[in-house]
Amino acid sequence: MAKRAAKLPVALQRGHDHKKCVAEALRQADELCAKRGARMTELRRRVLNLIWESHAPVGAYAIMDMLKREGRNAMPPTVYRALEFLQEQGLIHRIASLNAFIGCSHPADAHGTHYLICRRCGTVAEIESGAIGGAIAASARELGFDMTGQTVEIAGICRECLQTPKRGSASHAH
Ligand SMILES: [Zn+2]
Ligand SMILES: [Zn+2]
Ligand SMILES: [Zn+2]
Repeated sequence: MAKRAAKLPVALQRGHDHKKCVAEALRQADELCAKRGARMTELRRRVLNLIWESHAPVGAYAIMDMLKREGRNAMPPTVYRALEFLQEQGLIHRIASLNAFIGCSHPADAHGTHYLICRRCGTVAEIESGAIGGAIAASARELGFDMTGQTVEIAGICRECLQTPKRGSASHAH
């Protein structure tokens, strides 16, 4: 029986044109904020850009360090407010188990959040799974639970890492 190849999320495609991911994410962010009348300040945009540097999650302190290195006066409350704003707009997601953030590539569509988290390269990919979402919603309904959201974090090793022989502690960048 032929195995049906699932479409690999861009985040998990090694060597993909990541500049395109970043450009598209920033374009969508500007467009969405303009449409919603939300204020995308220069700092908020820079924070979004830094989070999009790769598909691996970035923590708030790492973001502050990067901003400081750029010579910006990035006080924690300012950075937290920027992160809050980006989350509210659906432009980034917080990965609870890592207490870190990733950029969302489809912020305009409402979606459940199911993440594949690679323990080796750190890549996080959002997957759209109607089956997972449906099963959780059905269980909640059965228990009379009024579900307002769901997050599923799936830990493991991504396909690219499985195919790459492990070489000491050297990790590959995305
Ligand atoms: Zn990318
Ligand atoms: Zn998303
Ligand atoms: Zn990996």
